[in-house]
Amino acid sequence: MAVLLDGKRVAAERKANIQARVASLTEQNRIPGLAIVIVGADAASRIYTDRMAKLAGDMGFAVFIKALPAQVSQADLLQVITELNADPAVQGILPMMPLPAHLDADLLAAHIQPDKDIDGLNPLTIGLVAAGKSLAAPCTPRAVMAILDHYHIELSGRKAVIIGRSNVVGKPLIQLLLARNATVMVCHSKTQDLAAVVSQGDIVIAAVGKANLVQMEMIKPGAVVIDVGINEVDGKMVGDVDFTNVAPIAGFITPVPGGVGSVTTTMVLEAVLQGFQ
Ligand code: NAD
Repeated sequence: MAVLLDGKRVAAERKANIQARVASLTEQNRIPGLAIVIVGADAASRIYTDRMAKLAGDMGFAVFIKALPAQVSQADLLQVITELNADPAVQGILPMMPLPAHLDADLLAAHIQPDKDIDGLNPLTIGLVAAGKSLAAPCTPRAVMAILDHYHIELSGRKAVIIGRSNVVGKPLIQLLLARNATVMVCHSKTQDLAAVVSQGDIVIAAVGKANLVQMEMIKPGAVVIDVGINEVDGKMVGDVDFTNVAPIAGFITPVPGGVGSVTTTMVLEAVLQGFQ
């Protein structure tokens, strides 16, 4: 049976570090500030905003929530970002996605000052990560790396298979894994014979959004399986991996919930603190 990679434990350890750093900054009257920009009433974004704001507040951060109406104009949205860029009380800007259809997420991303771009959205930030000059990737792929590191999973020279090539998870993971000398393979919706590729992986990271996509037959015995996916099946939250059947043959596996998602919010706070150096 696989060792459970416990995201809550990883988050708890990192939160203790964050709390110590916030305490020492606060003694110097420097309160780290997180700004969350939410447009409209997307239910998932509101839930995430509330969770993020509560955690940040509990950890001693100043939290600024910019809740804008769904009909906000592009110009007014960019003006809010301009003000946050200039605000010395704000070290990190986190916009909730998706935006309403009339707004351009690329324009928004390009408008966030790179040193406050805590979720790795600005093309400059993305380019630096792609060039191997920075590790300031979005928070979810950094959460994956935090779990691998916490459990001392060896990456150098090993085959890592990523399933999914989105800009927020799959693609930045390529760079973070390459930076650690893994041999990286990437699968996506057009990959032929997914099982043949995935079964080569010493480390398999699923970031698709399809319940039970990753089956036991695809996993090399002893492999490390990281499940980023979030799906709802019969009212329950599950990942992309058929956990019941994969766990007995994997070496290590993340649960859903309690895996990657538990670490992501912590990585947001770490990114805010980095902006405070
Ligand atoms: P996305 O929809 O942008 O990308 C999905 C990717 O999966 C695409 O690159 C696509 O090519 C690939 N794909 C689709 N069908 C496939 C198939 N049959 N075989 C192989 N690849 C296939 O999604 P995303 O934003 O990258 O998110 C992926 C999943 O991770 C979702 O379930 C999302 O909810 C979850 N997620 C979790 C966290 C977290 O903190 N745990 C954060 C972000 C996203």
